[in-house]
Amino acid sequence: MSSIFTKIIKGEIPSYKVAENDEFYAFLDINPNAKGHTLVVPKQEVNKLFDLDEETYSGLMSFSRKIAIAIEKVIPCNRVGMAVIGLEVPHVHVHLIPLKEMEDIQFTKKVKLEPEEFKAIAKAISENL
Ligand code: 5GP
Repeated sequence: MSSIFTKIIKGEIPSYKVAENDEFYAFLDINPNAKGHTLVVPKQEVNKLFDLDEETYSGLMSFSRKIAIAIEKVIPCNRVGMAVIGLEVPHVHVHLIPLKEMEDIQFTKKVKLEPEEFKAIAKAISENL
């Protein structure tokens, strides 16, 4: 069965898309730690980060870097943090999280955003790529 992220990539489940190329897809996390929390996913459905082939792994990091630089232009923060967890969704994804304090990357504090805010954030990040 396809992962929830494969369904998002195929457009079967809606998402607030930030960017896409042939290999990777970036979209806003639906339950963000902070405004601008973005997930970057390889289209190839692999469970664990370090099981990716080296080329896909490097491509994922390079694509994530571009997104992180755009996030930092748009969202006021001290820096963009990166985390890879995958305990909830077994399809590799990089969390890019604008950080103001350590708590922002601890997945304990969540922010509630309205659909219009999600849309505006995704648009702003994509326009700054
Ligand atoms: P992890 O697998 O790294 O522990 O966490 C999965 C992340 O994916 C969580 O931060 C969760 O909010 C996010 N997530 C789970 N399902 C969806 C979804 O359907 N849409 C979006 N945009 N994010 C999701």
